[in-house]
Amino acid sequence: MHYDIVVIGGGPGGYVSAIYAAKKGARVGLVEKRDLGGTCLNRGCIPTKALSHCAQIYQSLGNAKNFGILAENVKIDWQLAQGQKDSIVRTLGKGVENLLKANGVSVFRGEAKLEDERRIRIYYSGGQQVITAENIILATGSKPAVIPFPGHDLPGVITSEEALALSKIPDSMLVIGGGVIGVEMACIYGSIGSNVTVVELLPRILPRADEEISSEIKKVLQSKGIKVLTGTRVESVEKEKDLLKVNIITPDGPRSIAVEKVLVAVGRKPDLEAFEDLNIDLDKSGVIVDDFMRTSLKNVYAVGDITGKFQLAHVAAHQGIVAASNALGENKRMDYRAVPSCIFTNPEIAYVGLTESEAREIYGDDIRVGRFPFVASGRALTLGESLGFVKIVADSRWNEILGVHIIGPGATELIAEAALAIRLECTAQELADTIHAHPTLSETIMEAAMDLLGTPIHKM
Ligand code: NAD
Repeated sequence: MHYDIVVIGGGPGGYVSAIYAAKKGARVGLVEKRDLGGTCLNRGCIPTKALSHCAQIYQSLGNAKNFGILAENVKIDWQLAQGQKDSIVRTLGKGVENLLKANGVSVFRGEAKLEDERRIRIYYSGGQQVITAENIILATGSKPAVIPFPGHDLPGVITSEEALALSKIPDSMLVIGGGVIGVEMACIYGSIGSNVTVVELLPRILPRADEEISSEIKKVLQSKGIKVLTGTRVESVEKEKDLLKVNIITPDGPRSIAVEKVLVAVGRKPDLEAFEDLNIDLDKSGVIVDDFMRTSLKNVYAVGDITGKFQLAHVAAHQGIVAASNALGENKRMDYRAVPSCIFTNPEIAYVGLTESEAREIYGDDIRVGRFPFVASGRALTLGESLGFVKIVADSRWNEILGVHIIGPGATELIAEAALAIRLECTAQELADTIHAHPTLSETIMEAAMDLLGTPIHKM
């Protein structure tokens, strides 16, 4: 069988590129060794959001009496919560399968090995076959990184994939890594009864976020009873009766913490197995690609986590469209100027563009910062969610928006306006002059822009 394009991997990078190419009239094949939808749908974004929503409902019911609702003896049936999560995953997986089918993409459910720039051998449990293609898009994703500390392979030391499928809520959990997965998982389990400790090697959690966001989420986690140890290294894990004893080195010296589960969330590494025998140029993040998603092999493109650029589903999907377009003879370039990051803690976090310190590195003191707290938003108060703020960073010459950083209710939806503002090179004045509906959370962005311009209305 010969195709215009064969995509290896059916995650958001792979299946989006396959559907896009098919819509453009190409004959497309897609090979997937596990589940369509990839990590995002099956073992990442979607199941995490299902469980974080469960945790959020539980917390909201705890505060319901503020709104006159007396919800007593609220309990979690973890099997039902897991069942709801699994059912959402199944529905979406079926949706991806149907979309591929409806667009005429041939799906091969086996493990692909790239033999050269044109030939793909697919291994099934009962056999193998070879298919060929004019162009290949590699979209094989990533897997959790492991750190080889003594005891890393003990039962109870788990990855995020296992943390999403625990059969019971653990009494206690230590999370190694205060990155995106670490804080999301800490927030879920810390909100539904686990005694959680987060251990982060660097001086602050969410080290890639703006400093003010990091320090606010640290306070929020601590207010939920979650312990946050920064500048701390895990030395080893040992079995101690029914628990795991985690030996750590904190800035104040060595300590041990006994927990039921240890979650390792120290990043993800690219899955390069499908083409390990070929000579594709790699660097320490993964496959080297140019802005057209071309690898060092002719007619072979790579998208998503294997390129190590952002490891975000929405970036993978955009890269997939760019790769498919170029494989079909267009000249489309990836634009990374406005990539939003969303972290589904409670309250949520979202940001796009430069942090304040990144902006200072480029512009020196020629920047301006505006802030607006959710406690001054009428809509936030009606929701009973007044924690957090919006922070806007702009250059001081044109007041062009360079970065927007939000922690607070609806942050992950609000960030879309900020991404568009940065992509369209908007100024703070343009954001402030845009009429935002009242009473909505989006007014906080307008108010932060007004604060940056020195004319905040609803802020002292
Ligand atoms: P990450 O890179 O976001 O965070 C890993 C953290 O672990 C870092 O803060 C790092 O300093 C710390 N760390 C590394 N080694 C350590 C050690 N030995 N001891 C203690 N801390 C250590 O990686 P992640 O949280 O595992 O997430 C993996 C990828 O998946 C990321 O690229 C992330 O963006 C993506 N992801 C995104 C979402 C989302 O968009 N909401 C959700 C989950 C994951």
